[in-house]
Amino acid sequence: MEIFGKDTMKRCAICGKAFLPGSNRAKYCNDCRVIAQRRQKAEYAKRCRANSRTIDQQSP
Ligand SMILES: [Zn+2]
Repeated sequence: MEIFGKDTMKRCAICGKAFLPGSNRAKYCNDCRVIAQRRQKAEYAKRCRANSRTIDQQSP
């Protein structure tokens, strides 16, 4: 089997490990995908919370 050397293998954007992407948009290996998703979700939640807080403070 010729898997290495072909475009089927991608390099993880976080750890640099070679991995087989499930989709052509995949940027991270299985391990880091979970971390990246969690980080994105946390960042999104933080932004939402900050937004609602500023709205609360602005409205009397
Ligand atoms: Zn990785």
